Amino acid sequence: MDDWKKVLAQSITKPKDLAKHLGVDPKEVEDVVGPYPMRITPTVLATIKKKGDAIWKQVVPEIIELDDLDAPDDPLEEDTDSPVPHLVHRYPDRVLLMVTNQCPIYCRFCTRKRLVGKPGFLKKGELDQAVAYLRDHTEVRDVILSGGDPLLLPDHLIERILKALRSIPHLELIRIGTRVPGTLPQRITPELCDIVKRYHPIYMNLHFNHPDELTPEVKDACGRLADVGVPLGAQTVLLKGVNDDPEIMKRLMHQLLLARVKPYYLYQTDLTKGTNHFRTTVETGLKIIQALQGHTSGMAVPHFVIDAPGGGGKIPLLPDDYLLNLDENGAVLKNYENKTYHYPQPSAANRRELPMVGAPASQDMCSAGAMDDY
Ligand SMILES: *Cc1c(COP(=O)(O)O)cnc(C)c1O
Ligand code: SF4
Repeated sequence: MDDWKKVLAQSITKPKDLAKHLGVDPKEVEDVVGPYPMRITPTVLATIKKKGDAIWKQVVPEIIELDDLDAPDDPLEEDTDSPVPHLVHRYPDRVLLMVTNQCPIYCRFCTRKRLVGKPGFLKKGELDQAVAYLRDHTEVRDVILSGGDPLLLPDHLIERILKALRSIPHLELIRIGTRVPGTLPQRITPELCDIVKRYHPIYMNLHFNHPDELTPEVKDACGRLADVGVPLGAQTVLLKGVNDDPEIMKRLMHQLLLARVKPYYLYQTDLTKGTNHFRTTVETGLKIIQALQGHTSGMAVPHFVIDAPGGGGKIPLLPDDYLLNLDENGAVLKNYENKTYHYPQPSAANRRELPMVGAPASQDMCSAGAMDDY
């Protein structure tokens, strides 16, 4: 057996092991791990410093997860936007392909709590179906492998998926969303790196929520991926009692950059059943962005987004104080130090109006009329 599989097998998955290692009463969690499985890898266990800390809260089941009876299982309506099994096609030019339900740890706040930890991965026939769909849909230029965690698949299945996707001529980018480098760094083997680098461009978005997750061995695992040319981004979920604090968030963003990982998205928590005790106000996220923007490297500032309930997709939010006013004369702006500035518009003769993005191009915009400016 591969070393990483042995390490994964040492994870805590049973309430009685939780009792042994973390002193939790097994009765308190038995009912929770039925519907919502638990897994805590040795790397994550070693980072827990005390009961209820930021790492603990992400992985130790709590009875409160069973309270949320009215919340939806699938608030993003991913199941509705799925033309073939395991594939979500919501945006014009990119799709999500869910390749396994297994994860190195089972995050208590997971938006796919309805799926993760259940048996199942993308079967050969289902991969063929997804590839056939993508071949027909020449507008798709970007596929995001997700799950579950794609890097928990064995090497030969990862290679099978990458090879199949690379047989589609119009497909440009492959992205992998994973929590493996931060929770099971042993999985980032030389063999895996060798496979990945043969199918470039491959991007990875790594899931990190707290600076303590960036241990030296975790940073090394990120470095091994960066060394084979994988651009690394980070996705962070804003979580009550874990990272809903500007100082913690700033330390996290700095640690990510040190690990050669560029912060990409900061997510407002979804409405998923069993996770509502992690939600913060929207203002919390905006204040965190405000505390970062201008105060530290621009590289350290992620996009703050809400994945709109009902399948509206990700919507970016910025604190509204940056743009105080915008009209035909100019923009009135406020900087990070609360100072006000004025940026004048070009003169009317030098303006070119762009069509509204999102609205279908009307006859007028395509006709000679729109060229009058030249
Ligand atoms: C997040 C997401 C994507 C990718 O969105 P980007 O903004 O391009 O990172 C694609 N499809 C679905 C369904 C998603 O949720
Ligand atoms: S690793 Fe990702 S998919 Fe898996 S449980 Fe955590 S948040 Fe969910």
